[in-house]
Amino acid sequence: LVSRKWRVKPTVIDLGDGVTIGEGSLALCAGPCSIESEAQMEKVMDHLLENGVRLMRGGVFKPRSSPYAFRGLGMDGLRLFHQLARARGIKIVTEVMQVSQVEEMHDYVDVFQVGARNTQNYNLLDALGGVDKPVLIKRGISGSIEELLSSAEYVFSGGNEKLILCERGIRTFETASRNTLDLNAVPILKEKTHLPVVVDPSHGIGLRDYVPAMALAAVLAGADGILYEAHETPETAASDGQQTLDFAESGRLIRNLRRVYALR
Ligand code: PEP
Ligand code: MN
Repeated sequence: LVSRKWRVKPTVIDLGDGVTIGEGSLALCAGPCSIESEAQMEKVMDHLLENGVRLMRGGVFKPRSSPYAFRGLGMDGLRLFHQLARARGIKIVTEVMQVSQVEEMHDYVDVFQVGARNTQNYNLLDALGGVDKPVLIKRGISGSIEELLSSAEYVFSGGNEKLILCERGIRTFETASRNTLDLNAVPILKEKTHLPVVVDPSHGIGLRDYVPAMALAAVLAGADGILYEAHETPETAASDGQQTLDFAESGRLIRNLRRVYALR
């Protein structure tokens, strides 16, 4: 069902209020790895609106390698995120980690993110197949393109056709970067599926200085959107500060992404 053989016309996800993800426009989504506080969210939202970006990412349930690391503000953080975003016309992309969270999160999210550690959590995918909100599925940490498409098929066949695929880097033998951003996946996915394909260069390379280059390359490779991490002071971020852009870097990237997209 997610194949181009079944549907030729590209799927465009309409989040309302003029915010779309899919062919015909470049979708930009930025924000902190973790939602930390009201002040932090307000600063990010001001930055996004100044740059004409209406989609914000930010985790309230964080999958962390160490159980002692910051694991997110949970539903209290999400309710606040929703309140601040609604007041500003900003749409929310945030990660759902387990089936039991789907219902409680539902009214507060615009796009459910399935993280790389949950790409093959088939119970979660089944649950998301039954909701009326878009789902962004990240590629598994060691997942193949085919496995990503199979995960999307779970949600789609469950009845939810509002899907976005996200290349976020895979684990390889390379140690110079956090992950290896597989830009090959972009034209391959665009050919194989009618679903929107976005790229997360922040997790893809994991090093702040190289994020803009990979983001721009992803747009030239044909990505429908870019999702990346931005924070007023990345050095103090509760998670993933090493791969997070500050507002000056983020503003520059947004301008360059639009220029590059116009060349396509
Ligand atoms: C994130 O978006 O902050 C995140 C945890 O991503 P991933 O699932 O790709 O590691
Ligand atoms: Mn992160």
